[in-house]
Amino acid sequence: MAENLKMYIGGAWVDARSGDTFDSIDPATGGALATVPRGASLDVDLAVAAARRAFDGGTWGSAVAERERARILFRIAQLVAEQRQSLAELEVRDCGKPIGDALADIDEVAFMFEYYGGWATKITGDIPPVGPDAMSLVVKEPVGVCGLIVPWNYPMLMAAQKVAPALAAGCTVVLKPAEQTPLTALRMAAIAEQAGLPAGVFNVVTGFGVEAGAPLLTHPGVDKISFTGSRAIGMMIQRTCADQLKRVTLELGGKSPNIIFGDADIERAVVGSALGVFGNQGEVCSAGSRVLVHRSVYDDVLQGMTDFAAGMKLGSGLDPETTMGPLVSAAQRDRVQAYIDAGPGEGANLVFSGQRPNDPALANGYFVPPAIFEATNDIRLAREEIFGPVAAVIPFSDVDEVVRLANDTEYGLAAAIWTRDIGLALRTAKAVRAGVVWINDSQPAPTESMWGGYKQSGIGRELGPYALDTYLESKQIYINLS
Ligand code: ADP
Ligand code: MG
Repeated sequence: MAENLKMYIGGAWVDARSGDTFDSIDPATGGALATVPRGASLDVDLAVAAARRAFDGGTWGSAVAERERARILFRIAQLVAEQRQSLAELEVRDCGKPIGDALADIDEVAFMFEYYGGWATKITGDIPPVGPDAMSLVVKEPVGVCGLIVPWNYPMLMAAQKVAPALAAGCTVVLKPAEQTPLTALRMAAIAEQAGLPAGVFNVVTGFGVEAGAPLLTHPGVDKISFTGSRAIGMMIQRTCADQLKRVTLELGGKSPNIIFGDADIERAVVGSALGVFGNQGEVCSAGSRVLVHRSVYDDVLQGMTDFAAGMKLGSGLDPETTMGPLVSAAQRDRVQAYIDAGPGEGANLVFSGQRPNDPALANGYFVPPAIFEATNDIRLAREEIFGPVAAVIPFSDVDEVVRLANDTEYGLAAAIWTRDIGLALRTAKAVRAGVVWINDSQPAPTESMWGGYKQSGIGRELGPYALDTYLESKQIYINLS
């Protein structure tokens, strides 16, 4: 029996006003996991009103001592850490990823609240000199009510990545989790409530994008939208938000190059590159889905990646042996499978394609085994974001060629570079038009640092102090001293 859950608005656990619900699905089995409210614009109105009251009425924001905000964020961090196992298992059930990956996500969620709790007391302004007869203070203030719309690939982590800095900055929020993965967002609300976050500061509206996400974009009570998701929706969000000049932060997709030079430590490069494209089932905005390999090591790398993929164990994410779970939904499975099926007809050579799990209990799960193609950079497999375990391997001859190939994309989120030559590594890192460049690694995203994309991979930056900035306005206070 699927559990009936409620959403969290104005400090109360509520159904949708319509009474409508939908099921969140376990992608390993296709079975219903929980029934959640199908929020829509009436519910968004209530959530925004609650967030507005909490912000304008002094429940949160500049009216609350920074150290009080900090303490509550630290308590949330503590509660997340205490519940790490159950949160990770819930995440696995809802989105499919292997339990070890989910535990790592939850640990980072806890750290994110701790990290931004620390920042809450350290947001300072500036006093630019303006001559002997005046003083000018530049102070930082929270931007207000924020609509946070997040995807399903790292459900709790992506939520925390927005909620923690927003709360630290003093904003109040309405979180709209992805319809595929609403469960850990609801648990985050329960934890925030337990941590003593006042009613209305943090609201969660569950539901579908058009029904529960879109009303946030046009609501006059929302000051800012932060979105992580697909490029198409991101573009629509920016266009829609322009009508009210809402502040917008967008973290979108990628087609990130993973560059392996001839002098690289090939064993490390192969494992790192394979994890970079197959990790989290390839459902990663920064996945190194274009594997650019110097001709001198091309055969070795192709063989190494094939061996790695062949050794991956598909199964339920709850099985500790599993290294690749199901994709999040039937729709996502069909999308990814369509790319694989079309590849050979578009000029790609399918080098390897793995096996579905043979456990009958998983027969209806949304599994897509890893696939490796030899490709050229001009075909769809190398240009479009697939968001699944599909690698396009492309040879190159020299650094100029590989930089040209790496940058020949509409996206610019990330890039990985594998070489032992530090000069070559840094020259290439500077030449690649991407917001994140890894050298001899792929995919780390430390909370203390920075994240975000060039070109069509997004607008604005997250993580570290950069995220805080996106939830703050600057105000100049000028004092005439004469
Ligand atoms: P995907 O196609 O991979 O599910 P989306 O960009 O559609 O990625 O989804 C990311 C998030 O954006 C989800 O929370 C989803 O519900 C939300 N979303 C989708 N469409 C809209 C929309 N029209 N307006 C607002 N939010 C939306
Ligand atoms: Mg689900």
